[in-house]
Formats: sequence, C-alpha cells, structure tokens
Amino acid sequence: RSELRDGGGSPDGKDEIPVHGISETIVGVLGGGQLGRMLCQAASKMAIKIMTLDPLENCPASALAFHHVVGSFDDGDTVREFAKRCGVVTVEIEHVDAITLEKLEQQGIDCQPKASTIRMIQDKYLQKVHFSQHGIPVTDFMQINDQEEAEQTGKLFGYPLMIKSRRLAYDGRGNAVAYNKEEISSAVSALGGYDRGLYVEKWTPFVKELSVIVGRGRDGTILCYSVVETVHKDNICHIVEAPADVPHVIRKRSCDVAEKAVSSLEGAGVFAVELFLTNDGQVLLNEVAPRPHNSGHHTIESCYTSQYEQHLRAVIGLPLGDPSMKVPAAIMYNILGEDEGEAGFLLAHQLMARALIIPGASVHWYDKPDARNPRVAIIMGSDSDLPIMKDAAEVLKTFDVPFEIT
Ligand code: ATP
Ligand code: MG
Ligand code: MG
Repeated sequence: RSELRDGGGSPDGKDEIPVHGISETIVGVLGGGQLGRMLCQAASKMAIKIMTLDPLENCPASALAFHHVVGSFDDGDTVREFAKRCGVVTVEIEHVDAITLEKLEQQGIDCQPKASTIRMIQDKYLQKVHFSQHGIPVTDFMQINDQEEAEQTGKLFGYPLMIKSRRLAYDGRGNAVAYNKEEISSAVSALGGYDRGLYVEKWTPFVKELSVIVGRGRDGTILCYSVVETVHKDNICHIVEAPADVPHVIRKRSCDVAEKAVSSLEGAGVFAVELFLTNDGQVLLNEVAPRPHNSGHHTIESCYTSQYEQHLRAVIGLPLGDPSMKVPAAIMYNILGEDEGEAGFLLAHQLMARALIIPGASVHWYDKPDARNPRVAIIMGSDSDLPIMKDAAEVLKTFDVPFEIT
C-alpha cells in the first residue's frame, strides 16, 4: 500500500490490493503542462491517481499530481521507467518519444491512445497522408525536400503558400507563409531549413475555424462534444465560442468529419479535431490532437462531463460521460502575457481581477513556471445567451492592449 502511495504501481497495473476507489489504475501522463494540471483536477473528483512526467519540477501539473516525476518525456529510458510504474500511460502533449512507447506496448505496457496513433499524429505530414487516405477532406498538401520542389508546389497551389514543419509544431511555431516565389527561401530558413522536414499546404481561405472534441472509449464508443468556433490571435487560440454560431447542417458536417477522423485512429481518449469552414460550406480537417485541447477548456464548466474527465474515463476503461452542454452557451477567453517580464505578469493579474467580478465567469490560472509567459484561461458559462457572454468578453478585450502599469 505504501508503495502505491508513492505512485509505484506494479508493472501490469494490477496491484493486489482491495479496490476501494472508482479505479485503482494509476494513470501516467506524459507532460505536466496546463492540460496535465486540468487532468489532475478532474482526477481528484473521482480519486483517480495521476503520475506526471515532465522535465520541470515546478510544471503546472506538479502541484496537483498524485506523484510527479522529473524527467524528459522525449527520452526513451525515462519513459520506460515511468511507464512501468503506471497502469495506463497517456499524453497531454504529442511530442513524446512515441517509438519507445510502441516498443513498450509490445512488452505489455498499456498506452492510450495507441503509440502508433501518437507517432503518426506528431508528424503533421504523415497525419495529412493518413486522413486523406481515409477519405477525410483536407486541404491540398505536398512534401518538399528542396527549393525546386517548393517552387513546384507554388505553381501548383498558388500563393500565399503555407509552409509547415512536419514535427514539433505548436502555436503556429512551425508555420511560415510565402506570399510569392521570392519569399519561399526566407520562409524555409525561418523554419530551420529543408533538413528540418517540411511540407506545404494550399492556402485555405476559411470563413471560420471550428473544433470538435471527440471522446472514444476502450470499447470503441464515440461521443462528440458541441462544435465550437475558435478564434486565433498570432496563431494561438484566443477565444472559443460554444456552440459555434453556424447553421445546423455545418454542425452536423463538422461532427461527421470529426467522428470519421477519430474512427480512423487507434486507442482510447479524447481527441481534438481542428477544422476549417470555407465560404462554400466545406469542412476541411486542419489537424488532430490526440489529447485534451484548449478549445475544450469550457467543458469544465459548461458540460456534464468535462473533456478532462472524459479522457480519464476513456483511458481507464470507465463508461464515457455525457458530453452535452448544461448551459445554452459558453465562451473561453485565453489571456496571454502580452509583454515579457513584469508587465506581462501584471497585465494578466489585472485581467484576472476583472474577470473575477463578471457574473458566471470562472477563472483558471495555468501557473506556468516561466513568469515571462503568464497564461490565464477565463471560461464563462452561464444560463445567459451567447450575446450576453460576448459582451462580457468585450469587457475583457478592452484590456487586451499593451497595458500601462500605474
Ligand atoms: P496548434 O497550436 O493548434 O497545434 P500548430 O502550430 O500545429 O497549432 P496549425 O494548426 O497547423 O499550427 O496552424 C495554426 C493556424 O494557422 C491555424 O489555426 C490557422 O489559423 C492557420 N492555418 C493553418 N493552416 C492553414 C492553411 N492551409 N491555410 C490558411 N491558414 C492556415
Ligand atoms: Mg498542432
Ligand atoms: Mg492547430
């Protein structure tokens, strides 16, 4: 028992102790960022034990995890030692050592979603190949290995041309746009050159960006959350409106695409399907995250079962919960540290103070150890209509400018 309290489960996760909680499976989470922290919050509700692995001792999840292990989730040996102590291993970030996870799976470690799914998704080019082969609508794309191939795709797709890194992308930090042939080389250099592994996508002039969180249980049950609209600022998710203000037919189409995409993947968990809505009503898949997603933060307050609880239920093998909204609408406002250093930190605090007095609003503080980059997610869910919450969001937006500290 004391071993278990230390977070040490037996290698097969079947400790010979009397089951008295909802599940005695120790859930190992690779990564300890804000998504890991929110998984821990959901876990505490049902007394589920989470072990996190992150290189930072004071990562956002560390204070809330049952046990936090300091180490790299991208290092094979570290992941192996960590996984042996867990009943099931999952991720809150896809940039993990998926090759090691695949080997561990062959040795009997339970990884959800499946390591092969994580490995495929972490390479955005392979991801696009996979989904197009499964008949899921995606924007045209092509691998590029040198300048000549890049210029060929420019002729084929036209400009602007979206150049993307295949791997280690997040918050748009693997994307560069070339507005004409001459700009290709500088865009490629900005991404670290062709050796980094690049591909191009045809520019998609979307009218809205949508997202669907999909939960899939170990038995294959699939449940979709409401389609939301995501508004990005500098490539970072800034505002989420739930449900998305789009015709019923578009909601249906989005869920169909999302469900089909997740059905083509292996393993349990929640998946976030990012979509583009074009002006002729097409819904194209942008990318999938094999984990909870910031477009689903609002589910904590607005849905019967949050995406975090759903992920835990799914990977453990509990029945999935009801993903439907319990309020008519919700809005999520993601506040970034606009300025580096003290000013950014104070700005985030000012915004949070403002949000604390908005009726129906909930405030979440990521607690990123890097004070240069404070992040707050303000989730508003209430009985009111979306327009009313939009007004509240407008109040917050008025502060969303470089702030003069007095
Ligand atoms: P995330 O933080 O969501 O993982 P990422 O770094 O993987 O982001 P993408 O999702 O590929 O980046 O792209 C970031 C944003 O860039 C998209 O949300 C969208 O606004 C824009 N974008 C991406 N691909 C295209 C495209 N083909 N045409 C037009 N805009 C695009
Ligand atoms: Mg991405
Ligand atoms: Mg994205």
